[in-house]
Amino acid sequence: MLPAEVIKELRKIVGERAVLDQPHDLMLYEYDGSVDKAQPECVVLPSNARQVVAIVKLARQYNLNLVGRGAGTGLSGGAIARAGGIMIGFARMNRILEIDLDNERAVVEPGVVNLDLTLAVQGQGYFYAPDPSSQRACTIGGNVCENAGGPHTLAYGVTTNHVLGLEAVLPDGMVIQTGGKELDHSGFDLTGLLTGSEGTMALVTKVVVRLMRKPELVKTLLAIYEEPEDAASTVADITARQITPVAIEMLDGVMLRMVEEATHAGYPMDASAVLLIELEGLREAVEAQVIEIDEVCRLNRAREVRVARNEQERELLWKGRKNAFGAVGRVSPSYYVQDGVVPRTRIADTLRFIYRVSDKYGLTISNIFHAGDGNMHPIILFNHHRPEEMERTKQAGGEILEYCISVGGSITGEHGVGMEKNEMMPLLFPPASLEMISRLKNIFNPDNRLNPGKLLPTGKGCLEVRPMVSAGARTDW
Ligand SMILES: Cc1cc2nc3c(=O)[nH]c(=O)nc-3n(C[C@H](O)[C@H](O)[C@H](O)COP(=O)(O)OP(=O)(O)OC[C@H]3O[C@@H](n4cnc5c(N)ncnc54)[C@H](O)[C@@H]3O)c2cc1C
Repeated sequence: MLPAEVIKELRKIVGERAVLDQPHDLMLYEYDGSVDKAQPECVVLPSNARQVVAIVKLARQYNLNLVGRGAGTGLSGGAIARAGGIMIGFARMNRILEIDLDNERAVVEPGVVNLDLTLAVQGQGYFYAPDPSSQRACTIGGNVCENAGGPHTLAYGVTTNHVLGLEAVLPDGMVIQTGGKELDHSGFDLTGLLTGSEGTMALVTKVVVRLMRKPELVKTLLAIYEEPEDAASTVADITARQITPVAIEMLDGVMLRMVEEATHAGYPMDASAVLLIELEGLREAVEAQVIEIDEVCRLNRAREVRVARNEQERELLWKGRKNAFGAVGRVSPSYYVQDGVVPRTRIADTLRFIYRVSDKYGLTISNIFHAGDGNMHPIILFNHHRPEEMERTKQAGGEILEYCISVGGSITGEHGVGMEKNEMMPLLFPPASLEMISRLKNIFNPDNRLNPGKLLPTGKGCLEVRPMVSAGARTDW
């Protein structure tokens, strides 16, 4: 519990109703989309950057920890106050400050919901490209901190490719501006450094983003398979033909049935896998690519390839894809989403491995993922009321991630490391690289009060953490 005078000071800064310290309020902020929990000692909801600075200075005076929070949809425990302290919720800093269509830029506060930016500009033929499947809820500040991806990462890249500048508050109260509206800046790329730093270096209070022009034509195909391996080999073959769709998403049979029962989007209930493939660009090019992709799918034994006939059909297919986690929530008390990356040529092997892990641990695992990027999302269904099952689930998840590393991949493609995978970092980074990450973090956050216990291993020193596989850290990229 925080000293009463701190609560009083916080109320002076943000107002009575923007400070939450009652147990029933704090319960709402003890979790995010991952499986861990911890309560902050207080939640503060500032309305502007000036208030953020004042909160940060107060926390410094009392040596208190700080954790930033967007919408709390994160899937690696990033926004969980694992070491207590003050949580700064950015939900009320949700204004779009500037839209400059001539220069294809926007300036937003961190609490702007991702989809709201696209909704604000789509009437004029523009959109904001990073589109996590959580885009109806997650915030641009959260996206920046996690360097979020999404289905359209394949063509558009991740958040860092669309963020040009930031305003941020350091844990000592200093306000910095990085980057700006231009495409390039001299000096170190501090915007790039802070993007993906998982709230461990600074609190983001303003974001300059790029906007994109909507393409002339968008076509969405659904390819249906009897074997997941055939869907996986289609992904590699599409690339071999030098076609880059904007999205290639894969759902396996277990996932398909849950999604269809929940959304009635028209997914086949009896298939083993589907690919959702989207193409966009100039009309003639897209129409030619649809024909070629149809051919690639059939050569890989797709039993059927459907092309969405209109925007309504297209939206329905995406609704099924983007509401998939909710569909899992209908049938299982809890689920654990993993976020491993593998080279796209290893998707079939990885799926086989995941199914073996499912058998070994006696757990249902469904798969829905950004196949074009090799970004796997095995979802392990379990019951959190059974501690032993939760333990098995975590072990199964860890085994899958270790496999991803062993085939040349990584422990996260977009959900971040957070408090879920920080102890696995030594598997991915050699000691010297990890030490450099730690030193960089310490320049911004020297007394480790900003989001402690995240991203880096929590041992006495990050280099003392024992690698979890005998092979040790990857050195082969
Ligand atoms: C159904 C579902 C689908 C998802 N699909 C995707 C997907 O396709 N792609 C993807 O990348 N992710 C996906 N996610 C994960 C999640 O939505 C993203 O990581 C998202 O970027 C988190 O945004 P948020 O606003 O919820 O941030 P939070 O979860 O609140 O916070 C995330 C991190 O950012 C920090 N933070 C937040 N705001 C600030 C700030 N202003 N200053 C400093 N630190 C801050 C927090 O401390 C935390 O470390 C999905 C999640 C769900 C539940």
